[in-house]
Amino acid sequence: MAAKRDSYNENEHSILYAETGGICPLCTLPILFQKKGSKKPSKGYEVAHIYPLNPTSVQISALKGYSLPGAINALENVIALCPTCHSKYDKDFKIEEFVKLRSDKDSFLSAAKARLTVSQHTLQEEVCEILDIISTFDFDGAEPIPIGFDVSTVDNKLKKGMSPLQKREIKLNAISFYVRIRDHIKMLEQQDQAAVRIMQNQINSYYLAINRQNPENKDLVFNYVAQWISAKTNKPILASKVLTSFFVQNCEVFDASSN
Ligand SMILES: [Zn+2]
Repeated sequence: MAAKRDSYNENEHSILYAETGGICPLCTLPILFQKKGSKKPSKGYEVAHIYPLNPTSVQISALKGYSLPGAINALENVIALCPTCHSKYDKDFKIEEFVKLRSDKDSFLSAAKARLTVSQHTLQEEVCEILDIISTFDFDGAEPIPIGFDVSTVDNKLKKGMSPLQKREIKLNAISFYVRIRDHIKMLEQQDQAAVRIMQNQINSYYLAINRQNPENKDLVFNYVAQWISAKTNKPILASKVLTSFFVQNCEVFDASSN
């Protein structure tokens, strides 16, 4: 018997629209747009099933090896597409498009989960001060590797699950900033040791929560931690990435045993 299409309510539409950032994931055209002469935006998308609602025999054989969704009409298996891409996707099914939509949807879901976690974790004010300091650092050419700095730490901690480019960013950040951030944290410790310990524990506990959500993808874990620090402090993401890199290098916070 053919599966029936569910209808989606206003709130589900809000989620599906927000996930895409307002553009069709296949052709990047805006999926809400203003018609000429109209003051209100018009809807330019349809809800498409990623794993087909009633797959044809050709689709079934192309999808061999890919897992079936828990529920065919669940939000986890639908995505907003512009009408042109939707009808093309259904009628002229291409496995590459299925793989892309599945991976986009999984990224949307994991980003939404990470954003929900943002509000549940607090962060000490001291972090703002450190980020301000990071933003004012000046560089004059290539930074020498600091004495006593172990460049293999990042490699040892991130043996799997992180891309070479992400590792490189973390290593370069750690080399360039390690000594200055460490010295500033030492100074903060002299003023209020407990506050610094609390801050390290907060970053560690957020890291553990995100690491549990994305055990296979260390690039995501790194970026979600940096985004969380930036969202909590209202400071630039670049400074937050530098601080996150420092904590990857610093064994106490990103626990090596959990990698
Ligand atoms: Zn499209």
